[in-house]
Amino acid sequence: MQVFDLMDKHGHEQVVFCYDKVSGLKSIIAIHDTTLGPALGGLRMWPYKSEEEALIDVLRLSRGMTYKNSAMGLNLGGGKAVIIGDPRRDKSEELFRAFGKFVNTLGGRYITAEDVGTSTEDMEIIRTETPYVCGLAETSGNPSPVTAFGVYRAMMAAAKEAFGSDNLAGRKVAVQGVGSVGLNLIKRLLEAGATVYAADIFPDKVQKAVELGAKAVPADRIIDQECDIFAPCALGGVINDETIPRLKAKVVCGAANNQLLEERHGKALSQRGILYAPDFIANGGGVINVAEELQPGGYRSERALAKVSKIYDILLKVFKMSREMGIETYEAANALAEERIRKALEQKRMYVPV
Ligand code: NAD
Repeated sequence: MQVFDLMDKHGHEQVVFCYDKVSGLKSIIAIHDTTLGPALGGLRMWPYKSEEEALIDVLRLSRGMTYKNSAMGLNLGGGKAVIIGDPRRDKSEELFRAFGKFVNTLGGRYITAEDVGTSTEDMEIIRTETPYVCGLAETSGNPSPVTAFGVYRAMMAAAKEAFGSDNLAGRKVAVQGVGSVGLNLIKRLLEAGATVYAADIFPDKVQKAVELGAKAVPADRIIDQECDIFAPCALGGVINDETIPRLKAKVVCGAANNQLLEERHGKALSQRGILYAPDFIANGGGVINVAEELQPGGYRSERALAKVSKIYDILLKVFKMSREMGIETYEAANALAEERIRKALEQKRMYVPV
C-alpha cells in the first residue's frame, strides 16, 4: 500500500498512526485539509478486517468532512480518526486516554468528536487528556435531534425546488430507518402535516413511529413505496442500480451518509427526474451542533439551531448552481464547498496552531 500516493491523490495533509502497548490502541488520525481552520471530525471505532481497510476509510471520511464543514459555512477543516477494534468488546478507559494523548500531540490541528461506535462517555474520557474534543454530554450532547431538524429544513428546500412549495403538509414521505435521526425527523414531519411511511429492520422501532401516527411499511418494501419524498435514514449506498428503477419518489432527501453507491447514481437519479438533496448538505446539522462548542462563550442551543435552519438556503443555492451550471446536484454541492476553500486560499488565510 502506497500511503503517500493515496494522500497525494485526494490532497491529504497528514496521517498519524497511533499505537499504545498498554491499552492495545491501534488508531489512525487523518487530517485532510486545514485551509478553513482546525480539522474537525468524529472518531469511529470499527472492527476493520485489515489496517488497509481502516486507512482507506479514514482517508475517505476525513475528506468528506472537509466538504461538509466547508459547505456548512464552518471555519473548520476536515479530519477524522478511526480505532481498529470492536466497540462492544474492546473499549477501556486506557484506550480512550491513549487516544486523547495522541490527539493532544497535534496541538489543536485535529479536534475529535463521537461517531459510529463511540459515545459521549468515551469523549469524556478523551477530555481528561486533551481539550481538543467536542460532543460532550453536558454541552452539545446527542446531535441526532439537531441533525433531524437539518434534514427537515433540507426537505423543505427540496420540496420547494421539486414541487414549487416548501410546505410539507399533505406530502407523502417514506422514511427508511427509524433510528435516532429517523424518529426525530418523523416527529417533525407529522407535526407539519405530512403523511409518513416508516420502515426499519427492527419492528419495535417501527412501532414507535406508528404510535406517533406514521404508517408501517416492511423494510424490504420501503423503496417501492408510493410517495413524494424518499428519506434514507439508515445505511449508505442505498441509491444504486437496483433501487433507482424502483423509486416512486420525486425527491431523495435524508440523513444517511454516502447515499449514492457511486457518483454516477446521482446522474441516474436525475435522468429519472428525481431530485437528489446531497447527503452532506442535508445531514450537516450534526456537525454544526457539535462545532458550536468551539464558539466564544461555548455551546448555545438556539444559536446552533439558527445555523442549522440555514441548511434550507444552502440547499437552494446548490440547486441553483446545479441548474445554472448544468451539473448534477452532488457536483454542485462539491463545487460550493471547493469554492469556499479556494477563496480562503486566495486570501492567504492559514490555520496556525498556537
Ligand atoms: P441509528 O443507528 O440510530 O439508526 C439507523 C436505523 O436504521 C436503525 O434503527 C436500524 O435498525 C435501521 N436500519 C438499518 N438497516 C436498515 C434497513 N436495511 N432498512 C431499514 N432500516 C434499517 O443511526 P442514526 O444516528 O439515526 O443515523 C442514521 C444515518 O444518518 C446514518 O447513516 C448516519 O451515519 C447518518 N448521520 C447521522 C447523524 C447523527 O447526528 N446521528 C449525523 C449525520 C449523519
